[in-house]
Amino acid sequence: MTLKLTILIIAIIIIFLILWIFFPKKEFEQALLTFRFDDGYSSQLNASKILEKNNLTATFFCISDSVGESTYMDWDELLNLQKNGFEIGSHTKTHKLMIFLSEKRHEQELVESKQEFEKNNITTNVFAYPYGITNPFFANQVKENYDCASNYPFLWGVFNYANTDKYNLNCKEFKTAESFRDALDKAVEKKAWLVACFHRIGEEDGRYYVSEEEFEKIVQIAKEYQDKELIKVVDMSEGCSKLK
Ligand SMILES: [Zn+2]
Repeated sequence: MTLKLTILIIAIIIIFLILWIFFPKKEFEQALLTFRFDDGYSSQLNASKILEKNNLTATFFCISDSVGESTYMDWDELLNLQKNGFEIGSHTKTHKLMIFLSEKRHEQELVESKQEFEKNNITTNVFAYPYGITNPFFANQVKENYDCASNYPFLWGVFNYANTDKYNLNCKEFKTAESFRDALDKAVEKKAWLVACFHRIGEEDGRYYVSEEEFEKIVQIAKEYQDKELIKVVDMSEGCSKLK
């Protein structure tokens, strides 16, 4: 790498950090929390029961081609979730890394997944990028098809603010109730929106797994904070509607 290129990259990183640190972050009236589930695994039904028992909502981002496959929820289960007040979002058709897709394939992932959900009476207004990134050249396609979209933790930070870009919403994956409480305390302090992301619940699978007992503790914390009116638990659509 030439010296000029190295200096240019360092300068871009510094400018980005300065903008990120000093860009004014607008508070919400009250801190918000969203439970986000990725990929549509059957074990997330364990989580939905715990949430339902506590009268809390959530958004499940599902991959349309995976619905009904082994270890994934089927169409009846998704329909049931929707009927019970949970939100279903699209997580593409095939869960490809979108940054490498052609314009046509990029569009197919967005449009064909939405159509497949609609065919099965499921409305999807919100979107989550697989692996957290889209192809910036085709970002307009996301805007044409969905009301908002969520990334996955990278450089962008943990929390969302009232002026966060609704097509680049942050989230954070949690493994323990302790780390969840810490983040929720910070969200309350900053009057920010925390999107707490989970994959498999009560079904062991490497690093994207939370036991049912731990998830139950996490939900109890959310309930406690909501009862104290410190936060409001919302689905992705409701959170997006509060962005300015
Ligand atoms: Zn995913």
